[in-house]
Formats: sequence, C-alpha cells, structure tokens
Amino acid sequence: MRDPAAGAPLHRPLRLDVAPNRPPPRSLCVSAQSRLGRRSAVRCLSATNHSFSRGQHDLVVIGGGPGGYVAAIKAAQLGMKVACVEKRGTLGGTCLNVGCIPSKALLQNSMLFHMAQHDFENRGINVGEVTMDLDKLMGVKDKTVKELTGGIEYLFKKNGVDYFKGLGTITDANTVTCEGEAIPTKNILIATGSEVTPFPGGAIEIDEETIVSSTGALALKEVPKRLVLIGAGVIGLELGSVWARLGAEVTAVEFLGHIGGMGIDMGVSKLFQKTLKKQGIKFQLNTKVMAADKQPDGSISVTVEDKKGKTSELEADVVLVCVGRRPVTEGLGLENVGIATQERTGKIDVNSAFQTSVPNIYAIGDVIDGPMLAHKAEDEGVVCVEAISGMGAPHIDYNCVPSVVYTHPEVAWVGKNEEDLKEAGIEYKVGEFPMAANSRAKCNGDTDGMVKVLSCAESDKLLGVYMVGAAAGELINEAALAMEYGASAEDVARVCHAHPTQAEALREAALAAYCGSPINF
Ligand SMILES: Cc1cc2nc3c(=O)[nH]c(=O)nc-3n(C[C@H](O)[C@H](O)[C@H](O)COP(=O)(O)OP(=O)(O)OC[C@H]3O[C@@H](n4cnc5c(N)ncnc54)[C@H](O)[C@@H]3O)c2cc1C
Repeated sequence: MRDPAAGAPLHRPLRLDVAPNRPPPRSLCVSAQSRLGRRSAVRCLSATNHSFSRGQHDLVVIGGGPGGYVAAIKAAQLGMKVACVEKRGTLGGTCLNVGCIPSKALLQNSMLFHMAQHDFENRGINVGEVTMDLDKLMGVKDKTVKELTGGIEYLFKKNGVDYFKGLGTITDANTVTCEGEAIPTKNILIATGSEVTPFPGGAIEIDEETIVSSTGALALKEVPKRLVLIGAGVIGLELGSVWARLGAEVTAVEFLGHIGGMGIDMGVSKLFQKTLKKQGIKFQLNTKVMAADKQPDGSISVTVEDKKGKTSELEADVVLVCVGRRPVTEGLGLENVGIATQERTGKIDVNSAFQTSVPNIYAIGDVIDGPMLAHKAEDEGVVCVEAISGMGAPHIDYNCVPSVVYTHPEVAWVGKNEEDLKEAGIEYKVGEFPMAANSRAKCNGDTDGMVKVLSCAESDKLLGVYMVGAAAGELINEAALAMEYGASAEDVARVCHAHPTQAEALREAALAAYCGSPINF
C-alpha cells in the first residue's frame, strides 16, 4: 500500500490543500504556507502585525554570521526591535569572511584556470600559454567577500537592525554588554558559531603561514609545491582541490577509511575519491597524523601512522590542518546566567524551540548540535525568531537539510544513505543514473558522476538522494524540495523536466527507483 505521506502521484489531480496527516512544514515562507492552507497564512499575517515595545530591545542577537544576521533581519521584519552584536568587525560570520564564500570564489576561478590549461584545447579552444596571477585571483575573492559582507550592513540599515561592533557578553538574562555599553533586552539569541579545531593535544601548532587552518589556506601567498591535508572531510577536499588545480601536489591523510566526512554514502564516497584521484590528489586513508615538524630548509616533515602502527614521513611545503570545527562560547558570559555547555563538544544544549536552560535565551547555528552548515544556521535563525514572535512551535526537518561538497564534480546529498537505511532495517529501492548518459552533461563534456535515488520499497516515498556531478550542488535542491513535501520517486519522475538539463538525471534515477529502469540508459 502507498504511504499517504508520500505525496499525491501526479496522475491524480493536483491538490492545493494540505494532506490531512501532513502538517505544513513550519519552515516554509508565507507564500508557500498560503498555498498550503488558509489557516497557516492567517497565522503568518497576524504574527507580522505583532506590535513590540519601542524602548528596550526585543531581541539582541550575539554573532553576525548566517545564523545571527538572518535571524536579526527576520526578527526586524516581524516587527521586533533588534540589535546584533558582532566582534569580527565585519558581518557574515565564518561563512562570508573565511568559509563558504571565499572558498567558492577560489574554487570557481581555480577551476577556470585548470580548464584553460588542461581542457580548453580538447574543446577546440586554443588560448596559448595560460598563466596565473595569484594576487589578482586572491583580490577577486577578497572583493567578493567585501561586497557581500557590506551588503549585510546595508540590509541591517534597510531593516532597522541596530549593529553593535565588539564582543557581546551576557551579563544577566536581560542584558548584553558590548564595549562597556549595556543593551537591555527581552530576549537574547546566541549565534556565536564555530572556529577551527586545533590539532588534538597541541602536537601541531597552526601559524597560518606554512601550517595553516582553512583560514590560512584561503590566503596562501604562493602555490605550495607539496600540500598535505590533515583530514579529507569537506573543507579539506575543497581547499585541496583549489591548490591542486593551481599546481600543488596534494596528499590527503585521513583517519577514517573513507573521504567526504561523516554522513556520506559509502558508494558515493568511493566514486568521489576515484574522480579526485584522476585529478592527481593522493589519499592515505586509515592513517593518523602524529606530528608535523618544520625542517631547517623551511619544508615540513609530516609523520603518519597507518592502521597497523607502521610510521612513515611525508614531505610538505604547506600543511593544512582541517580536523573539524568547535563551538565558540568564550567571553560570552554563559556562566553569568548558569548556561552549561556539553562536556565533550562544548556546544550549547537547546530544546526544540531553541531555548537554552534560561527560557528567554536562545541559541542556533554551529554553536548547537547538528550539521555545521550555513543554511542550517539560517533556517534555525528564521524559525527561532518566528517562534519568539508568537508564530507557534518551530519545526525543521533536519533530514531535508542538503549537504554539498563544491569540488569538481560536486558531491551532494539529502536524506538517508544506504548504510542508515540498512541499520534502521528499512526496505528500500535504489535508482541510479550515470551522468555519462545525460545529454546535457555530454554536451558540456563533463560526464563524471551519477545520481542515486533511494526510495521506500513499500510506499515509494523518497528517503535519500545522492549525486556526484558538475551541477550536483544546484540539483540537490530539487531533491530537498521533493523530500520536504514528502514526494515519492514516481512524483519526481512524472514532473516534466526541461531538456537538455542535468536535472533530467535526477528524474531518470527517480524513474529507475520507482519502476525499475530509466529511459535513457
Ligand atoms: C572553509 C569553510 C568553508 C565552508 N563552506 C561551507 C559551505 O560551502 N556551505 C555551508 O553551508 N557551510 C560552509 N561552511 C560552514 C559555515 O561557514 C558555518 O556552518 C556557518 O558559518 C555557521 O553559521 P553561524 O551563524 O552559526 O556561525 P558563524 O558563521 O561562525 O558566525 C558566528 C559569528 O559570531 C561572532 N561571535 C562569536 N562570539 C561572539 C561574541 N561573544 N560577541 C560578538 N560576536 C561573536 C563571530 O565573530 C562570528 O562572526 C564552511 C566553513 C569553512 C570554515
């Protein structure tokens, strides 16, 4: 029997109301909620008309990253008097300053350089000698960061958010202090994010010159001849790709037996590793880095130990330590209000409404549990302030939060992987479609990758979508949308997709999942 929550198959008439047993997702915007039912739309409107006091602030947000700045703007749009305190000197947090944005600017331009050097000729484009101006390449990245961070200041002004520059400290449950100034407030939202985790035990010290964190790796002054990555997770592989394309010999040393970090589907991880290997990146898996010693000639000797306990040395000019990120709570004043942090992770515990142990103090983003992703932080910020404004209990379906690795090809996924499903004892179907059989990928001369759709064997409901491909980071949003609406594989397969597009590969994989075979493979 079909799972009623799997959504109406498209051969039935489309319904605009809400399935009786499926409440509208709370994270949807007003227009989507109005589509889903009149009651939800009315609730949104009444919340926007909510009147807040004009004296003290209704909300002080500490941290101007994607979680904090988005929450501040949304709260102001809901009629609250809002302040945001940020110590960095610029808004946008890790994401805009030293994370998502600068890394993607470098990924884009390093890929164009690499293509001009190694690929254009195969396409009948002769450009002569291709050279790189690293200063200019970095300048373009810096300009992108500056324009986007400046854009948030503009948005703050436009929405009437008060911006305080400096460290924000909670002095009591209704006061945040910044640079000696007390800001009285009804509510406080902690969005202080995360920072680079140092190498365990302090055995390797980051100097941001030759032993760098992701921040230093975004601003190297020259292309290293040999780059060793400690950790083959998302950040390491993206930055490793940048420098490999610009000419570095890159070796990734990973403690786990696979690349791509936790949560990745093992089949996809293997394919991913194969494509990066083809690009010249070397991998040492199941291997632990023990030390990194600077040599008199300026090089670094990295001592590694394999699974069997055998040690060996790797020579490097630059070592990138990318073993994870940890929450930031230093100087925040949690002790003044009795908020404890988790012993192992240092994260702040919250309930489903993002309230800490002090009910008018909330926390979102990297500083709480969950995937450390900018869009997760943003969504939490929005639903948290909607709830503060009286719009009802917040809801985020974390199963529908997509993940993307912006290498080439990109790797993206949403929902459960095969290992999760096996462990949970859920019967599932698999539909796969190779990018080599996708006409647009063929036209683009970019056929590495595949799409894999996992759907419930009984109900056909989508359970997970994994993809490797040039445009996977864009395509995954279609899968996330489908999953958020509880779509079945058949639903996706019956949606008319423009031709030729890479999105047709998702449709074909969905077709393979629901009826056993795709059309074009
Ligand atoms: C190299 C790299 C690449 C990444 N790429 C991606 C990507 O492609 N996609 C993605 O989704 N995620 C990516 N991330 C992760 C993403 O940047 C984070 O998940 C996201 O920024 C978290 O948002 P946040 O608002 O919780 O915290 P943050 O962005 O860390 O912002 C917190 C802000 O709070 C400020 N702050 C801290 N304490 C105080 C205080 N007491 N007073 C005042 N201000 C304070 C900090 O200065 C900081 O600006 C990347 C991260 C890195 C390092």
